[in-house]
Amino acid sequence: MLDYQPKIGAMRLFAQGDFTGEHLERLPAIKTRRRLEDLGYCAYCGQSDDSVGNEIALSSEHIIPEFLGSGLELPASSCAACQKATSAVEYTIAREMFGPVRKSFGLRGKDGVLPNVNFPLDVGSYTSEELFMPIAHYPTVLVLPALFPASTYSRRGPDSADPFNFLLYNINADRNLLARYAIDGVSTQSVDLVRFAQMIAKVAHSYATHYWRAAPFTQTVSSLIRTIYPPQQPAIGHLAHVGCLLGMPETPTSALHEIEAGQMRWGRIRRRAVRVRLFASYGMPSYYVTVSEPED
Ligand SMILES: [Zn+2]
Repeated sequence: MLDYQPKIGAMRLFAQGDFTGEHLERLPAIKTRRRLEDLGYCAYCGQSDDSVGNEIALSSEHIIPEFLGSGLELPASSCAACQKATSAVEYTIAREMFGPVRKSFGLRGKDGVLPNVNFPLDVGSYTSEELFMPIAHYPTVLVLPALFPASTYSRRGPDSADPFNFLLYNINADRNLLARYAIDGVSTQSVDLVRFAQMIAKVAHSYATHYWRAAPFTQTVSSLIRTIYPPQQPAIGHLAHVGCLLGMPETPTSALHEIEAGQMRWGRIRRRAVRVRLFASYGMPSYYVTVSEPED
C-alpha cells in the first residue's frame, strides 16, 4: 500500500512510468470545428461491415466530448451500438460532474445554443429540486479527480481499491448572493469514477486510433469504453490503464484542453499512451492512458 501513497518523503519510494510525448494537440478555448480524416471503421469494436458484408453506418465522434467545448471530430468512427454506450457515459458526466462548469463557461452542447440567461440550480438534498438564477451569480466549482498511477505503469496492483465517487461541494457559493434568490444552499456534485475513466479512455483511444492509423496497435481500453456499467460502481479493476503521474508540474497553459500521443515506459515495458488534460488552462491534472498492449 505505502509505495503509492503520494506523501511528502514517500515520493522517492514511489515508482511510476515515464511518458514521452510525440505529438501535442492544443484545443483552443473558442470552439473550433476541425474534422480529421474519416476512420472508416468503428474505433471501439472494429466493425465496418455487417454479417452479410454490407457496410454499416458509422457516426462521427468528438474526440473530446462536445459538451466540454471541443470541436475536434473523427468522422466515420463509431457504430450505432458503441455510440449508444459512449453517449450514455458522456450524458451522465455532462450532467452530474460538469453541469455547473458548462453553464459558467458557456460551453455549448449539441444544439450549439444557450437557451436562457437564467440557469437551473439544483438545491435539493435528497432529490433534484431546481431554482433559476443568472449565470453571473451561478456557483461553480471545477474539480477533477487526482488518480494514482495506473497499474500498467506503476507497482500498484490491478485490483487496488481506489477512491471513487467523489462528492464535490460547491464551496465557493456566495451565501449572500444565494440569499437574494431565496436559496439556502446547493446540492453536491458527484464524480462517478468508472464513467470518468471511461470518458478519459475514450478521448485517448479515439485519438490514438486516428494518430496511429497507419501503424495499428493491440487495443487495451475499447472494452472498458463500450461497456455500460450501472451508475456509481466501485472503480476496482477499471483503472488498469487510466491514471495520473505523481509530481508532474501542471502549470496552466493557453489551450483549454490538451491531448498528447506518446509512449509510456514502465521498467522494460513500453506501451503507446495518450495524455489527456482537460481544462489545462486552469492548471488541471493530466491523465495518462496506456492504449496499447506492451510492444517491442
Ligand atoms: Zn462499434
